[in-house]
Amino acid sequence: MSKYMSAQFSGLKAYTPGEQPLDMEYVKLNTNESPFPPSPQVIKVIQSEQAKRLNLYPDPEYTALRQALAQRYGVNKDNVFVANGSDEVLNFSFLAFCDANNGIAFPNISYGFYQVFAQLYHIPAKIIPLRPDFHLAPEDYWNLDCNIVFANPNAPTGLAISAAQVESIVQRNPKHVVVVDEAYVDFGGESCVPLTKQYDNLLVCMTFSKSRSMAGARLGFAIANEALIEDLDRIRYSTNPYNINRLTAKAGVAAVESEEYYKENCRVIRENRAYTETQLERRGFYTLPSQANFLFTRCPDMDGSTLYQALKRRGVLVRYWDKPILRNYVRVTIGSRSQMDVFLAAVDDARKEK
Ligand code: PMP
Repeated sequence: MSKYMSAQFSGLKAYTPGEQPLDMEYVKLNTNESPFPPSPQVIKVIQSEQAKRLNLYPDPEYTALRQALAQRYGVNKDNVFVANGSDEVLNFSFLAFCDANNGIAFPNISYGFYQVFAQLYHIPAKIIPLRPDFHLAPEDYWNLDCNIVFANPNAPTGLAISAAQVESIVQRNPKHVVVVDEAYVDFGGESCVPLTKQYDNLLVCMTFSKSRSMAGARLGFAIANEALIEDLDRIRYSTNPYNINRLTAKAGVAAVESEEYYKENCRVIRENRAYTETQLERRGFYTLPSQANFLFTRCPDMDGSTLYQALKRRGVLVRYWDKPILRNYVRVTIGSRSQMDVFLAAVDDARKEK
C-alpha cells in the first residue's frame, strides 16, 4: 500500500477472484464458467460490422438490451437495469440502498463479495450463520431492521430455497430492500422475478456469466420495481453511464434471442451434474444436493486444500476455502462430460497416491 492510500481503506480486505492461471491449459472447474461457447448468433454479432463502430459511444440507456430482457422476463423495460457483470449490480445496490443507518444482512457462507462491499462502504453488516447442514432458514431473515442480500441458489453450497420462502422474507422486511442474487437460477432454482410485480422492495440480480456463457463479456442485470431501477440508474449515471461496452450490449441482445441454445446447454449441465454426483457418491464423497452449475463436495480422506493441490498437479482446477466450516469441501464446477471424466480420473489417481 502506498502512503497515499486513503486511511479509510487501510484495513480493506479485497475480494479474491478464483485463479485464472496462464502457465498451462487446465481443466477449469474453479469459477463456475460454462464449458460451452456463446451461441453462434452472439459470436456473429461480435465478429460482424459491430466492431467497426467502436469509435462511437454506446446508447447509455441500453434500450435494445433492456427491451429484449423485458420481453424475455415478462416485465417492462423500466423494470430492467443492466450492468458490467452482476458484481456491478451488487456494487450499485450497496451504494444506492445502504448506509450507516441502513445496514445489510447476509449469510456467513455465501458469495464473498457481499462482505467486501459492506466493508468498502462502511456499511454495518449482520452476518447470519447458515444452519449446520448449510441450509438457509428463511425465518432467520424475518423482521430484520436492515437490507438483505443472499444468493439463491446459494454459493458455494448450491442449495436453493423456494420462491415462497423468499417471499416470506420480502414480506416481512417492507422497509428495506431484499436483493436476491440469482446468478445460478437457470440450473434448477425457482426465480423470484414474478414477485417483483408485487413487492416494491425486491431486487432480483442475474448474470450472463454462467448459463449464457459470457463471463468474459461482463454483463449482468437486475429486475425490480421501476423506482428501485431508477435508484440504481442514478448511481450508474453518477459513476459510469457507459458501463457496458457496445459489443457486449449487442451480444447480450443476441444471447437473449438464443434462448433455445442456452436451455439445451443447461439441460446438459444438469445431466452432467447428476452423473458427477453419482460417481462421487460411489467413491464415498458427501455432496450437497445442488441446484447450480457446481457441486460442493467432501472427500472421505482428504481435506479441501489437499484435494485441490493434488488435482491441480494433475491439471484440474477446483476451488476450496480456508475457513473452518468449509475446509473439508471443494467446489467443482460442472463442465462437459469429458471434463468431468478427466476430473473423476484425477480424483481416483490422487487418492491412489495417498
Ligand atoms: N453472484 C454470485 C453468487 C456469483 O457466484 C458470481 C460469480 N462469481 C457473481 C454474482 C458475479 O458474477 P458476474 O459479475 O460475472 O456477473
